[in-house]
Amino acid sequence: MVLDSRGNPTVEVDCLTEDGTLGRAMVPSGASTGRHEAVELRDGDNRWGGKGVDVAVANVNGPIADALVGLDASEQGVVDTAMMTIDSTPNKSKIGANAMLGASMACLRATVGNGNIWQHLSDGNASIPVPLMNILNGGAHANSNVDVQEFMVVPHGFDSYPEALRAGTEIYHSLRAVLKEAGLLGGVGDEGGFAPNLPRNEEGLRYVVEAITRAGYSPGKEVSIALDVASQEFLQDDGYHIDGKVISGSELGLLYSSWLDDYPIVSIEDPFGEDDWDSWVEFCQREGHRVQIVGDDLYVTNPDRLAKGIDMGASNAILIKLNQIGTVTETLLVISMAKAAGYGTVISHRSGETSDSIIADIAVGTDAGQIKTGAPARSDRTSKYNQLLRISEECETYSKLFQ
Ligand code: PGA
Ligand code: ZN
Repeated sequence: MVLDSRGNPTVEVDCLTEDGTLGRAMVPSGASTGRHEAVELRDGDNRWGGKGVDVAVANVNGPIADALVGLDASEQGVVDTAMMTIDSTPNKSKIGANAMLGASMACLRATVGNGNIWQHLSDGNASIPVPLMNILNGGAHANSNVDVQEFMVVPHGFDSYPEALRAGTEIYHSLRAVLKEAGLLGGVGDEGGFAPNLPRNEEGLRYVVEAITRAGYSPGKEVSIALDVASQEFLQDDGYHIDGKVISGSELGLLYSSWLDDYPIVSIEDPFGEDDWDSWVEFCQREGHRVQIVGDDLYVTNPDRLAKGIDMGASNAILIKLNQIGTVTETLLVISMAKAAGYGTVISHRSGETSDSIIADIAVGTDAGQIKTGAPARSDRTSKYNQLLRISEECETYSKLFQ
């Protein structure tokens, strides 16, 4: 057990191979989790507010170790299948996806040793992903009245990742100054972005555009905006509760269309609830040609749900979170499936994170094109941005997405 960025327990797994190589991995944890995600096993007793992971840790040291010790750690498929054999539930509720993913990633690390995970995963293609940098936090990640969970900047108009990272980071600091002047600077949210109270969600877009301009960059040309609405969080029986109103999925889609007309938005994640397929299809038919529409809670990195979305035309991109599905092998499969369908792929952190930077390597090695890993602040977030800086010394190709 180790602590995550919110001070909650999480699972860390060590995989030691015969030649003495140690692979160590830490598991992240969500707050606005989708109902269809694999199960994160929590003790639920009165310690740690119910969030203890003693049972998950015991599952690693017990049944998982029994199944894996003696296997070749580099046979990722064999390792992951062995774990799925001892937990054949569809949502990994017996052993816990947190226990399983820790072991799965630790084996990947042990396999690579002092080498590079991104090179190990690459089929010859690799690129540094465009970062979707969450500079204004709302929703379940902030104690504010803002319904939209994430306002992100996307520095796509640059030749190299280091320049793009600098632009995104300068804009983060510029937003701080803009909000301070407006008397709106309070604390930050779980992912390191500022968390002001705002009269309407659209004000968040306005402040981000102002921050881009103030930092000396051209909105839409060099730097655009991505949103994670995480709308399931404000969907109730009577409709979507946003901006103090209750509206239908169709009406919410029209609100997004008006934002697309007025702001340089290149991507919208979870615009509708996790089972509101019809609203997704309606919106994607109308706007899919001019904006990336990303399914997170909708797909939960699950091949069956992704297949349904591809079939229905529900979106044109998927968010990838390893702990939603629980193994490296299944994650890589979902990424390939999405790419084969022409979907965009965004490799993502969770709001509860650790210093583990494995998603940076996975994003590069799978040539995913995009990564979402919070504000360029707080070590749990910058560990990924910094790992990408290290990788960019060897892999100079910066994704051309959104150019
Ligand atoms: P979560 O948020 O990690 O709290 O689920 C991230 C997201 O919704 O993308
Ligand atoms: Zn999301």
